[in-house]
Amino acid sequence: MIRRRVTVLGATGSVGCSTLDLMAQAEAGGSGAFEVEALTGGANIARLAEQARRWKPKLAVTADPARLGELREALAGTGVEAAAGDEAITEAAARPVDWVMAAIVGAAGLRSAWAAAGTGATLALANKESLVCCGPGLIGRVRRSGGRLIPVDSEHSAIFQVFPHTAPEQVAKLTLTASGGPFRTTPAGAMADITPEQAVAHPNWSMGAKISVDSATMANKGLEMIEAAYLFDTPSERIDVVVHPESIIHSLVEYIDGSTLAQMGPPDMKTPIACALAWPDRIAWRAPRLDLAALGKLTFEAPDTRRFPLLGLARDALEAGGAAPIVFNAANEVAAVAFLDRRLGFLNIAAVVADTLSRMTASGVDSGSESVCDAALAVDAEARRTAESIVRGFAAAA
Ligand code: NAD
Ligand code: MG
Repeated sequence: MIRRRVTVLGATGSVGCSTLDLMAQAEAGGSGAFEVEALTGGANIARLAEQARRWKPKLAVTADPARLGELREALAGTGVEAAAGDEAITEAAARPVDWVMAAIVGAAGLRSAWAAAGTGATLALANKESLVCCGPGLIGRVRRSGGRLIPVDSEHSAIFQVFPHTAPEQVAKLTLTASGGPFRTTPAGAMADITPEQAVAHPNWSMGAKISVDSATMANKGLEMIEAAYLFDTPSERIDVVVHPESIIHSLVEYIDGSTLAQMGPPDMKTPIACALAWPDRIAWRAPRLDLAALGKLTFEAPDTRRFPLLGLARDALEAGGAAPIVFNAANEVAAVAFLDRRLGFLNIAAVVADTLSRMTASGVDSGSESVCDAALAVDAEARRTAESIVRGFAAAA
């Protein structure tokens, strides 16, 4: 049985809820026992309070200081300390535990992931944006602290499980699979009118709003290419993307002798979370089982970078290096949120990212220094301002 003292950052989101649900299932089935140090959430105080009552953490934190009174009230009599704001989240992340799930969405998760990376804990990283913004710095920090980074993104969990960690020179190529999202077969001419409701309705995965938009534009696969490059120290030219609409093969590693290993399973985020929670052990939960005969066949196709230009822009940013991946990420976040707020058309998400990248000269971020997180956040803030002004330009022209 695995025993862990854990903190869940972004506990109230899609990945956070799946993490707590999985922990409950492992406890019920006798394969795990968990003590919770801290839970953090955003504006959903009711959910955070419900989770805190169930798990009895020492600390529950909301990102929103205006909601602290509400959280305190909801936790009255439970013995759980309530706190609010970014600094309180960073403090929660820095507490010594065995395992931290970093599942805040966007660059907002960077500072807490960075704090957790310095504690020596196992860092289960769902927040891909923090890897994109300071991958080498974050990975180095985990290593120096004596901790371990385990990717939670399903594709990277797949690669992690079949990667030759002690002999990386045996790898010829990584292939990330992509579902293709809800608009895989939508003709280019019909894409301008895509609505937020259509974009967040993913065919295979149930996820938060921002990553659902990223899947619809394929910016998600672009972010994942950058994530894979850093996690597995692999250059862009040895990372491929293949569209696989069934989302059964979660990614593949081709070895130099021509052998290719893949990890498979029904599309459910609890499987990569379970892997990160127990690694190198395994825990049992009510996992959906793979039935290949029922599936009949698996299909694959090349991605269409013409209809999904963010894929190519991400590759360019990865190859440009320096601050370009941070700029790509920030501009994409601003544009995805503007699209969800109906301030930007679907096709203009890529236009905003391209324009932001071309306007911002890639300033170098020294990944060796302790201030790499601050430097990345400074680039992130500047890229956000630039992207916001480009969004406003589109809105004014509309
Ligand atoms: P979500 O929107 O469902 O949840 C996000 C969590 O972060 C919530 O708890 C929210 O309260 C919190 N949060 C939001 N803004 C915050 C802020 N400014 N400060 C502090 N906390 C804040 O998102 P999700 O789908 O669970 O995704 C979380 C992360 O995991 C993302 O980086 C995403 O790319 C990654 N991921 C998600 C999935 C998935 O299936 N959902 C798969 C792979 C990777
Ligand atoms: Mg993924």
